[in-house]
Amino acid sequence: MEKQTVMTPDEEDRMIEDAFMEVLNGYLSSNHRKKVEIIERAYRFAKEAHKGIRRRSGEPYILHPIAVAKIASQEIGLGSTSICAALLHDVVEDTDYTVEDIRRHFGDKIAQLVDGLTKISGGIFGDKASLQAENFRKLLLTMSEDIRVVLIKMADRLHNMRTLGSMAPNKQYKIAGETLYIYAPLAHRLGLFAIKTELEDLSFKYEHPVAYRTISGQIKESEGRRAAVYSDFSAPIKKRLDDMGLVYEAKARIKSVYSIWNKMETKHVPFEEVYDLYAMRIVFECDDPNREKGICWSIYSAITDLYRLHPDRTRDWISTPKANGYQALHLTVMGPDGNWIEVQIRSRRMDEIAEKGFAAHWKYKIGEGDEESELNVWLKTIKDILDNPEPNAIDFLDTLKLNLFASEIVVFTPTGELLTLPADATVLDVAFGLHSELGVHCIAGKVNHKLVPLSHRLKSGDQVEVLTSKSQVPQPEWESFLVTAKAKTRLRAALRKTRMPLINRGKEILAQWFADNGIPDNNPVITKILGVYHVPNRDELCYQLGADEIVLGDFLVKTLKKIAENNSGIFSKIFKRGKKNTPATDAVKDGDTAVPAINPKEVYILKNEDGVANYKLAECCNPIPGDDVMGFIDDDGRLVVHALNCPRAQVLKAGYGSRIVATRWEAVSAKFSVHIHIEGIDRFGILRELIQMISTHMAIDIRKLNIEASAEVFACDLWVRVADVGIVSDLCEKVLTINGVKQATRIQ
Ligand code: MN
Repeated sequence: MEKQTVMTPDEEDRMIEDAFMEVLNGYLSSNHRKKVEIIERAYRFAKEAHKGIRRRSGEPYILHPIAVAKIASQEIGLGSTSICAALLHDVVEDTDYTVEDIRRHFGDKIAQLVDGLTKISGGIFGDKASLQAENFRKLLLTMSEDIRVVLIKMADRLHNMRTLGSMAPNKQYKIAGETLYIYAPLAHRLGLFAIKTELEDLSFKYEHPVAYRTISGQIKESEGRRAAVYSDFSAPIKKRLDDMGLVYEAKARIKSVYSIWNKMETKHVPFEEVYDLYAMRIVFECDDPNREKGICWSIYSAITDLYRLHPDRTRDWISTPKANGYQALHLTVMGPDGNWIEVQIRSRRMDEIAEKGFAAHWKYKIGEGDEESELNVWLKTIKDILDNPEPNAIDFLDTLKLNLFASEIVVFTPTGELLTLPADATVLDVAFGLHSELGVHCIAGKVNHKLVPLSHRLKSGDQVEVLTSKSQVPQPEWESFLVTAKAKTRLRAALRKTRMPLINRGKEILAQWFADNGIPDNNPVITKILGVYHVPNRDELCYQLGADEIVLGDFLVKTLKKIAENNSGIFSKIFKRGKKNTPATDAVKDGDTAVPAINPKEVYILKNEDGVANYKLAECCNPIPGDDVMGFIDDDGRLVVHALNCPRAQVLKAGYGSRIVATRWEAVSAKFSVHIHIEGIDRFGILRELIQMISTHMAIDIRKLNIEASAEVFACDLWVRVADVGIVSDLCEKVLTINGVKQATRIQ
């Protein structure tokens, strides 16, 4: 902040009034309906409310809301309601007035905006990581209700960044970091390109002052040379455009300091190699929106007559605007000095949208017809995500942030519908994007009529078809290759749904174990138990318990006791108290807590009478009749059957010798699920032959199918229902006779 010259109260008041008049005059020259009266009232109200309060720099506080209103109006293009909300945005937070007061004086709409702004004022980075996520969620929630809250917040942030010196020093890092982390990408996503660039440069200037000064200096130094190249390049183009009778504005585009630095850092190149890559922008005047596209292409044609065109760098953002609303025609040609130069062609309308984002759309909005803008689609995505609250707030923040940063690709559905997705999106992202049910049952995709796996990464222009199967179920592994926040959220919701019964069963088991052993169910104890089983949280513990992947027993009691012995803290006390209360710990000494009706000393016959089995198959190894198996008596006294070669069985054998039971299969009528892996050389029709052989000739029920094809090879994972191992080996043998199949094995 520059030094404040001492002003008399009158002088200061005149300065404030002048600042406000600038806001009002800007508003009056805009296309909005003229509602001066309410703006003036809001200004007087805010001025009175903040009276006597100053910013750290010493200037009257009211200058901040005035500046925010000015940005909202003149740089974002918002109207009177937003200007009022901007003027009042700090009143509720910093003064004694309430939202109710605002409502009484200015009505519902403005009160609602001010309320939204007050709620998100805490910033995104709190003391705790989850608090960041919570605040961010609040921000987005308000956003999906009224986008203007976020736009005004953006104006507030921009002014705070412009005057970072007048913020408390301990807040400066936080504000700069937060700006780069979330506000700049959000501005980009909202199409506020100019604001995004300024926010980045301001944060960069604060966080890397030396690099900022160096690069700014280099830009200045190279100005002369750059101007010479630009005028050499642009002169023939301008002559052509003049001959065509166009009214236009042409200017050289210089990269921002931050983006030059970013490129130097990520590409490891010196300044000289970055700064040359500049662009020229042509903005032409045109009153008739229907003629814009034609004019863009005629300019394109004129330029390509003059310069050599880079073959793959033409971008038609007119036919398919970016998700943030951006429209323009970009081409790259070889300049006179042998460097590639990008030329951006836009109409005045497109330019305003590019600079001011969606707010500018309102200015040009003709009917109610184009309300279904891409932005609304994006807002809907956010709403979807918020409607499905993710228990892990950090994951939520990460996925959303990922989407804010992602650059975009455009793909087509078989019916020619356009989908805009983040770069690297997969077939499964498309499936989930279209509908939750499609995603959950997706087995593969067809990209440009070629079969591809779910994880296939799409490219712009791909035509994508989603293949589904009713028997497909969602897999946790899918999350590793999903890119869109929407797909991740929908997958998690689907997984939770399928996991819920097991988690509930696990909860009961856990509660019973606590009761049986007289151990209190509290945080220190749970923490230790999570540590013993290496699981991240209570839900996962319950899930694994419910799925019989882990068991609680004497082993755990002993382990906890041992931990308590070496622990002098709260935990040892809790555990000792628990021990005193219960006689159950004594019972543990003989080894088994469960009450097996099964006699481990006898061979247990695995039977399946009337479709009801007297055993349970372990999900880790899925044994079937004919496999070498062993039985394990679980906490409920049921017999769980594991394959002998199952790793989990090894652990059980080592830890719970007395609960292991020898078993023998009896001829059973039931069918069992088996996973078979097939590999071979891909050829047209091979999959159809494979499926036909299995389902038609052998009458085997296919439950699930995953296919991955890369270059000439294909891999196929098949889940079928069979009676025993004999049928499995028969099936593998037959499959191997198909021309091209190289391998067919059961996976356990
Ligand atoms: Mn503020």
